[in-house]
Amino acid sequence: MTILNYTEDHHRFRERFEKFCKEELTPFVDQWEAEHIVPKSKWKQMGENGFLCTEVPKEYGGPGGDFLHSVIIAEELVKTEHMGIMAPLHSDIVVPYISTFGSEEIKHKYLPGCASGDCISAIAMTEPGAGSDVASMEMTAVEDGDDVVINGSKTFISNGVNCDIVIVAAKDPSISNPHKAISLYLIEDGTKGFEHDKKLEKMGMHSQDTAELFFTDCRIPKSNIIGEKGNGFIQLMQKLQQERLVCSIQAIAGVEHVLEKTVNYFRNSDAAVGSIKAEQAVQFELAEMTAESRILRAFIDQLILGHMNKENVIIETSIAKYRTSEALNSIINRCLGFSGDYGLSEKNTLVRMARDARVQTIYAGTNEVMKSIIAKSLGL
Ligand SMILES: Cc1cc2nc3c(=O)[nH]c(=O)nc-3n(C[C@H](O)[C@H](O)[C@H](O)COP(=O)(O)OP(=O)(O)OC[C@H]3O[C@@H](n4cnc5c(N)ncnc54)[C@H](O)[C@@H]3O)c2cc1C
Repeated sequence: MTILNYTEDHHRFRERFEKFCKEELTPFVDQWEAEHIVPKSKWKQMGENGFLCTEVPKEYGGPGGDFLHSVIIAEELVKTEHMGIMAPLHSDIVVPYISTFGSEEIKHKYLPGCASGDCISAIAMTEPGAGSDVASMEMTAVEDGDDVVINGSKTFISNGVNCDIVIVAAKDPSISNPHKAISLYLIEDGTKGFEHDKKLEKMGMHSQDTAELFFTDCRIPKSNIIGEKGNGFIQLMQKLQQERLVCSIQAIAGVEHVLEKTVNYFRNSDAAVGSIKAEQAVQFELAEMTAESRILRAFIDQLILGHMNKENVIIETSIAKYRTSEALNSIINRCLGFSGDYGLSEKNTLVRMARDARVQTIYAGTNEVMKSIIAKSLGL
């Protein structure tokens, strides 16, 4: 069943990126997991090869591709079985704030570096006391002449150590309506009063530099406001569709990857698994998981198409994010079980994938929040 029309160019792009992943990423994953960070030089290599910010137009230094190029990057990266180099977060979640809402000055200043890998980006919404309820954030942005002075802290920020720029959501404390008080501000690494070197130890995604960010009287020019002042909350909501779709694409690609590995294991490893592949219980489990995977794939591809046609599919992307992330967690765990004790060995990369998958039900809006959105759409 073909839903998406990949061109010859897309197929060649996928082949090139698949090769890049095999040669330039996968061999280093264990090292990055141990070091809890991916070196910036790898981001640069990604950019030099046209694998970052694929949708950024050529006039701003990007490769000038389309969303299907982003889909390819997200899907192929999953096969490297690590979450350290979060190119989809940079290219398809953070940078679109700049390309959609940024002034021409900001776009010309930052987009070329974002595409070349010289400028790694992060988005900072979450605070120690404000996660799902973004409007309750406390970080302040106070105008002072031609500047804005930022104070407060953010937590669990992906790319938080490596980032050269961060888009920060903060409130003007003089405006009481929280939805009108939030704006997005672009802050460069090295700006006085901005510290971001505190890596967080977490359950999975060990090679991903998730960090706390601190802002103390951090002064930036007013021209670094992304879009119109006071529009931050609306901007964040507008970009949720793509953010949750990207998460769903990664999750379904993960499901497919794990199933392919597991089926191959049963097909090709007679000696290792003895006769259990002949057991109907195993066959039925794999058949059930394959059925779920294929149904989700059709739904996601249809959503990609709708998104590319600029349809409003925010409810459907909430459904997708919830169901694909749950499926990923459950399918990895079921596949782990087939291998008995080896299933839990650190030598089994499914163990890493299981750890990394857990967060997918939490970030980009928790699955409880997804269910609230779905329930609201039902008039409940
Ligand atoms: C590895 C990792 C990377 C992250 N990267 C980023 C990043 O780059 N940038 C960024 O800004 N943030 C990031 N986050 C933060 C993430 O977006 C938040 O963790 C998430 O939004 C949930 O917020 P919270 O953790 O404060 O949980 P809370 O909002 O405090 O929720 C706690 C629990 O209550 C439930 N809950 C909350 N509200 C409701 C409701 N209305 N109805 C029902 N249940 C509810 C939640 O589902 C959850 O189970 C990251 C988090 C992790 C773990």
